[in-house]
Amino acid sequence: MTDIRDTVILGSGCAGLTAAIYTARAGLKPLVLEGHEPGGQLSITTLVENFPGWPEGIQGPELIDNMKKQAQRFGATFELAHLNSAKLGSHPIHLSTSAGDFATRTLIIASGASARWLGIPSEQALIGHGVSSCATCDGFFFRGKEIAVVGGGDSAMEEALFLTRFASKVTLLHRREQFRASKIMLERAAAHPNIELRTNTVIDEVLGVEEKEVKGLRLRDVKTGTACELPISGLFLGIGHEPNAKMFTGQMDLDNDGYIKTANNVFTTHHGDVIPGVFACGDVQDRRYRQAITAAGSGCMAALEVEKFLEEHGH
Ligand code: NAP
Repeated sequence: MTDIRDTVILGSGCAGLTAAIYTARAGLKPLVLEGHEPGGQLSITTLVENFPGWPEGIQGPELIDNMKKQAQRFGATFELAHLNSAKLGSHPIHLSTSAGDFATRTLIIASGASARWLGIPSEQALIGHGVSSCATCDGFFFRGKEIAVVGGGDSAMEEALFLTRFASKVTLLHRREQFRASKIMLERAAAHPNIELRTNTVIDEVLGVEEKEVKGLRLRDVKTGTACELPISGLFLGIGHEPNAKMFTGQMDLDNDGYIKTANNVFTTHHGDVIPGVFACGDVQDRRYRQAITAAGSGCMAALEVEKFLEEHGH
């Protein structure tokens, strides 16, 4: 182990990179551990049209690349590494990573949340080409088109309802007869004239891999085994997200779905009491908004808390 760092940032999505820009500008020489999915969810989207300051929109990977360069300009350093384990209660905090061990006075956890995917190869091949896990980000591109949403929980209902603003028809596909969604959300979706609910149905293949754009779905009725094709232009995944916080189980308060619990607008983490010097921001602690701009905002706030913490502790 070498010297003690002022701050280490876990994750290189929108939240982590904003925290890196702020802490680097404050002279704290942050080290960013880029994690398993460098650039986070933005790096797998295409056009981002709702990030303020880009009137014509910007490609997600380009936005992320710009943020990284901005952080590097002020002295942030990056390691293509992931965290193996952390001792959050120790002072300094000890991190064991795939690139070696580090000691740090503060830690900003911006490890994000990963959308759940079906995992079939044709779906993976068409991410960003008609397959999306974010209705708010990509719904706009399907104006007047027929699309499908998969999932039977509140996220799927919410996405399907939101997408009716753009799509001419939304087919909601669910693998079982019973829905997991709350009664009110299910009733709203069921009552919508442009939403068709299709239960006991699974997706065997997303069609359009050769054309590099979604052309339809090959579906199977799980009760009868009957296969059929559904022509659509877009597939939205609404089968949930997994916050990347499992490695902190037992050391930090997580909610029932594994999101890090933070105090309102302060981003301190807790294990009963506040964990000194450990802050969380972005989607790993936000199940509600999950937007690039809210992640960036929380990254900024966590960075300012780090500055305040170090100042209060004489560094
Ligand atoms: P969820 O409740 O866990 O539902 C996930 C759904 O996706 C389930 O219906 C599940 O099917 C299905 N699914 C999972 N893996 C699948 C696969 N491989 N293939 C096909 N289907 C699959 O997740 P969520 O909807 O994201 O909700 C998470 C939490 O956030 C819930 O507590 C929810 O109430 C809350 N939430 C609330 C709101 C709101 O109130 N506005 C909006 C969004 C989320 P099975 O049912 O068969 O397991």
